[in-house]
Amino acid sequence: MMLEIKELCVSYGAIKALKGIDVTLTEGEIVALIGGNGAGKSTTLNTISGLLRPVSGGIRFLDDEITSVPPQEIVSRGIIHVPEGRRIFSSLTVEENLEMGAYLQRDKAAKQRDLEEVFVRFPRLKERRRQAGGTLSGGEQQMLAIARAIMAHPKLLLLDEPSMGLSPVFVEQIFDIIQSINDQGTSILLVEQNAQMALSIADRGYVLETGRIVLSGASDDLLHDPLVIKAYLGG
Ligand code: ATP
Repeated sequence: MMLEIKELCVSYGAIKALKGIDVTLTEGEIVALIGGNGAGKSTTLNTISGLLRPVSGGIRFLDDEITSVPPQEIVSRGIIHVPEGRRIFSSLTVEENLEMGAYLQRDKAAKQRDLEEVFVRFPRLKERRRQAGGTLSGGEQQMLAIARAIMAHPKLLLLDEPSMGLSPVFVEQIFDIIQSINDQGTSILLVEQNAQMALSIADRGYVLETGRIVLSGASDDLLHDPLVIKAYLGG
């Protein structure tokens, strides 16, 4: 098991955002976490990456307890989080943003190789390598945020709403990129309101409603589940 979340409870003061969720992810999988606004999806990712501390419950990564490990140590163990809203450095160039993703890599030549590889996968970022991050379109910024995460060679990538605010063409491109990152061996926990797209590339999925998992299973089964169709697939 790569990731094992057990009976996780997280609160913001009196607000119980997660009320005892269980989620697992096996090495190589794409697992989707779907649900509406305020369901607790971002809270789940923020707790895995150490930004929030749970009230109770545990998180194990590659058989180690990481529940009280600080965020920077979680990064160095191989969990990279691409938060909602991208959070790129808007005054730094595209290339500088990518270099920030590789801050743990001390070997300059290796860093340069990684940069060239990222540019092969994201030719649009290569064209704009000297441009300030803040001048990119929303879709390009999302690409940059994902590309920056790849520079850190994640074992597990946490993606929070990568399709948010993007035009359909960009959504398709971003999901193709996510699939190709997974094909090269990175496991992915994908949070999405776009249930159709998320389940179309995920192996398995969990449906989160107001802090509880109400349904889980193989993506194909979820795509045909009446509850999912009614609540999340617009039918
Ligand atoms: P969205 O897609 O809208 O971001 P989400 O599923 O990611 O939703 P969370 O952001 O995890 O949901 O929020 C879960 C619950 O916790 C919500 O009720 C939200 O209002 C609450 N919450 C989130 N962040 C905070 C905070 N910093 N302070 C207080 N309550 C919060």
